[in-house]
Amino acid sequence: MKTLRLILGDQLNHKHSWYSKPEKDTLYFMAEMRQETDYVHHHIQKVVGFFAAMRNFYEHLKDNGHQVIYYEIDSEANKQDLVENLKDLIQKHDIEKFEYQLPDEYRLDEQLRNFCDSLNIENEVFDTEHFYTTRIEMADFYKGKKEMTMEYFYRDMRKKHELLMENKTNPEGGKWNFDKSNRNKWNGKPEIPHEKGFRKDVSSILTQIEKQKIKTIGNINASNFNWPTSRADSLKVLNYFCDNLLIHFGDYQDALHTEQAFLFHSRLSFSLNTKMLSPKEVVNKVIETYYDRKSEIDISQVEGFVRQILGWREYMRGMYWMKMPEYQNLNKLDNQNKLPDFYWTGKTKMNCLSHSITQSLDNAYAHHIQRLMITGNFALLTQINPDEVDAWYLGIYIDAIEWVEMPNTRGMSQYADGGIVATKPYISSGSYINKMSNYCKVCTYNVNEKTGENACPFNSLYWNFLNEKRTHFKNNQRMNMMMSLLEKMNSETLEAHITRAHEIIENPDNF
Ligand code: FAD
Repeated sequence: MKTLRLILGDQLNHKHSWYSKPEKDTLYFMAEMRQETDYVHHHIQKVVGFFAAMRNFYEHLKDNGHQVIYYEIDSEANKQDLVENLKDLIQKHDIEKFEYQLPDEYRLDEQLRNFCDSLNIENEVFDTEHFYTTRIEMADFYKGKKEMTMEYFYRDMRKKHELLMENKTNPEGGKWNFDKSNRNKWNGKPEIPHEKGFRKDVSSILTQIEKQKIKTIGNINASNFNWPTSRADSLKVLNYFCDNLLIHFGDYQDALHTEQAFLFHSRLSFSLNTKMLSPKEVVNKVIETYYDRKSEIDISQVEGFVRQILGWREYMRGMYWMKMPEYQNLNKLDNQNKLPDFYWTGKTKMNCLSHSITQSLDNAYAHHIQRLMITGNFALLTQINPDEVDAWYLGIYIDAIEWVEMPNTRGMSQYADGGIVATKPYISSGSYINKMSNYCKVCTYNVNEKTGENACPFNSLYWNFLNEKRTHFKNNQRMNMMMSLLEKMNSETLEAHITRAHEIIENPDNF
């Protein structure tokens, strides 16, 4: 039966059972499309990275004897819309059956379900064979439970997959979670061994994108592109991480520094989210490195990393499929302000924000704490509409795909789901930023001043936020300490915070 198989841009899984042997009646289809480049303004490195990785995957399939049709963004036959392209190919090639893999995004899932409903040929959907869990496994795990904190799901995953376990029942090292030892500030030591990077020339893809007048954000150096765009590249990044960075990963997981964009982070999210690497092989390789070098590498470094992939990544995906499509409209704190213009330029006197945003525009990357406690924290404290915050995070990062971006942004970072993902809002005044970074040392504002025009804006914003949103937190035990400090604050100080916070909220681009 003549079959057309669709491969989406984030389904570059070399090990998928589809590819075990070439079949003469099977035609694969991949396409770069305006539908995908235009639904949000993406970072230019993200568009280039996806196209380059897709093209490499296409070459790999062809080299292995598969029949593949590939549309580049400027191919004449490309209708720039997924459904229009599929209809055209089904007709042109007398296709009798259409097959696809489960998309990770609701938008594409819906589009393909509707398309299949309209077809008068057979169709079948396959698993992507990438994640540890199915779409609904986490929903089943939490059925009947009141709270859906990640920790219990993570412990269950550790047991189920027998990872970092002693005798199948006890966690290795005697504790499930070494989070408390993951909070060191980095002061220039230990040294971070520099990776050479790939230094690829991507100028021809860039020219094609520019000719199509695709609107993008951010910067790119077309002769020095450093993101992995093939499975071989991705394995290099993974090996580099295990050999050089894992040893200190946990210790400096939450650290921030002006001179080090990546610190000890793995930079594997793009390879994982495009499925060039599977979470299982990443976790297995990391654990294998730990067992090989147990005298050097502490369990806390490894557990911290495994938790991110086995815990958070699978949890976010489970949450997305449990709560979509309602999730995308949640705004429980009723935040309505506009995202400041400086999020698109990095031009602000607040050094932590200027640094994190400029680095994001330059690299299409920021690590977790920059996303959560700098840009996310400011957006929440200034009460930005979560739709705008989502659009920014979905565009700017090379790893941003909605299933993982949205629960992280709307849930964990903006508390717009009212506390499903995060049991309390991730907010802080300037003191946390100062504790974890060197940003405050060279800032226009003084982190130690609470109010007044030189005071760090985060300080007044923090208290103003708690004051304005107090009704949302009155039954939240985890907020009791903060709320009681707010209650004890003398009215003059609180008034000064409120006045200054409103100056910032009304004109954030003046700060
Ligand atoms: P490392 O710190 O080396 O961590 C290893 C891996 O763990 C990552 O590659 C990633 O696959 C996984 N991981 C770590 N934290 C998370 C998390 N919270 N959720 C899911 N997976 C996690 N991650 C994305 O992949 N895509 C996104 O669009 C995205 N948007 C985010 C938005 C906000 C507001 C926040 C706070 C976090 C977001 N994250 C997102 C999670 C996290 O910031 C990135 O996965 C991480 O910074 C990627 O860099 P790394 O590969 O060096 O990660």
